[in-house]
Amino acid sequence: MQRGPAPQVMVLNPNSKRETGRKAQLANIRAGKEVADLIRTCLGPRAMLKMLIDNMGGILMTNDGHSILREVDINHPAARTIIQLSRAQDEEVGDGTTSVIVLAGEILAVAQPLLERNLHPTIINSAYQRALTDALEFCKTFARPVDVTNEAEMYKIIRTTLSTKFAARWMDQMCRMALQAVLRVAGPQSQCPQAGFAVTRREIDLKRYAKVEKIPGGEIEQCEVLDGVMFSKDIVHPAMRRRIENPRVVLLDSAIEYKKAESATNVILSKEEDFATLLKQEEEEIKAMVDHILAVHPDVVVTEKGLSDLAAHFFVKAGVTAIRRLRKTDNNRIARATGATIVNRTEELKDADVGTGCGLFEVKKIGDEYFTYFVHCREPKACSIILRGASKDVLNEIERNLQDAMYVARNVVLEPRLLPGGGATEMAVATYLGKRAATIQGTSQWPYQAVAQAFEVIPRTLAENCGVNVIRCITQLRAKHHESSEKGELVPWGLDGLTGNIVDMRSQEIWEPMAVKIQTFKSAIESACLLLRIDDIVSGVKKSD
Ligand code: ADP
Repeated sequence: MQRGPAPQVMVLNPNSKRETGRKAQLANIRAGKEVADLIRTCLGPRAMLKMLIDNMGGILMTNDGHSILREVDINHPAARTIIQLSRAQDEEVGDGTTSVIVLAGEILAVAQPLLERNLHPTIINSAYQRALTDALEFCKTFARPVDVTNEAEMYKIIRTTLSTKFAARWMDQMCRMALQAVLRVAGPQSQCPQAGFAVTRREIDLKRYAKVEKIPGGEIEQCEVLDGVMFSKDIVHPAMRRRIENPRVVLLDSAIEYKKAESATNVILSKEEDFATLLKQEEEEIKAMVDHILAVHPDVVVTEKGLSDLAAHFFVKAGVTAIRRLRKTDNNRIARATGATIVNRTEELKDADVGTGCGLFEVKKIGDEYFTYFVHCREPKACSIILRGASKDVLNEIERNLQDAMYVARNVVLEPRLLPGGGATEMAVATYLGKRAATIQGTSQWPYQAVAQAFEVIPRTLAENCGVNVIRCITQLRAKHHESSEKGELVPWGLDGLTGNIVDMRSQEIWEPMAVKIQTFKSAIESACLLLRIDDIVSGVKKSD
């Protein structure tokens, strides 16, 4: 029997696009490099801003790496993975978002010649991982401890982050606000983590408990961190008090109105009096709820849900101020600031649930809007940060800058160790890895050496951005590090990002939290490793050209 040609098996859709092997790896490397190139000029104190315009015509002006990458429309999957990095960095430590991308791009770039020399990606990967472990070990010896109770020292650290940002013009004020907000959210014990109090990352939850409220208008000098919380809401009835000292605060997350039945129910009334009875029943129900609340003698009642006019009437009669339809997150913050407990069923309300930690309740009008304040709190574990400024764009950029500063303060409170900035740490790591590479046998030496070389990208980019002769500057910096490493002393030589001179970072007081640096190095190398292990990119359907 004669057989015809073997039938072809189609596994992939013929329209799908596929890149395999070296081609896929090189494409990924190119994508990583391009993303890094996009924000390279945004690193350091001489950073440029980018202006991004979205489809709707909205404008964003910033030099924050994460904010830029979040907005740009990028297609390549590897490029998107790299962008995810800056997001992860932002969520984890809140800073170093530009550095992580620049470093990851470079680590990918140095792999290109190795792949072209036919080095297998798994060898590159394991050497990269080894270099990462060694770099992190080295950072621990290079770091210096910091006393978080020393305010002046904390200011210096926050200053380094802010110096590269738009808000640098209001440096002292921003530093003070960032530190105040963090210490407030952390609570009093956290000021002494060395004293045995273990603060975990979750306990300084800035996203939840330090809320930025932007009110356009006014001066930047009017920005402040409240010793309590504030939100945009008015009282439910004009006859209620707008200012109460030392209020007793009750917080609810249930409605104070007549509850409708679960499923649609029709009530048919045959006599006119029945209607009056029905209304009376409603009134009694609400009265009972209000009475439960009044039993704990509150001055202010806040609920996340509705509050009927009738309930408002009873509260006015009892001299109680009420606020309705508050967001859950705001209610949580009031609870932390005043010491109240949020209660669901009014009949379960106890005296212990009432918040008494607040010194002043006040409703103020700013511009056209009413704002409610719970301030002068004795031990506020939550706060609102009020930002005032000429326009929305200015306020948005200041908010981003302040967030960075707060994260720096938080990172130092949690891990009180610092590493020098200005490219000093990266150059010291490069020197250390470069020296160690000589002790590594076989082909792994090349990728290990390549990581050492990649770390130099940070001082190099800082030098590029401040407009000095890059080659001369980096050669000098490298020589200084070699010299001090030969002598066995670790001098943090780095680049003064404003003048481009090589200086001892101790004299410049440019320090960064160790947590940020470690996270940057880890994220950059690990994601580069991940991308290098890809040898096949299959995309569903090829786009028509
Ligand atoms: P990122 O988003 O990565 O934090 P930045 O634009 O804030 O990016 O730049 C941070 C880098 O700039 C760090 O490497 C830091 O050490 C460096 N840097 C900040 N201020 C100075 C300065 N005055 N001189 C030199 N380097 C600085």
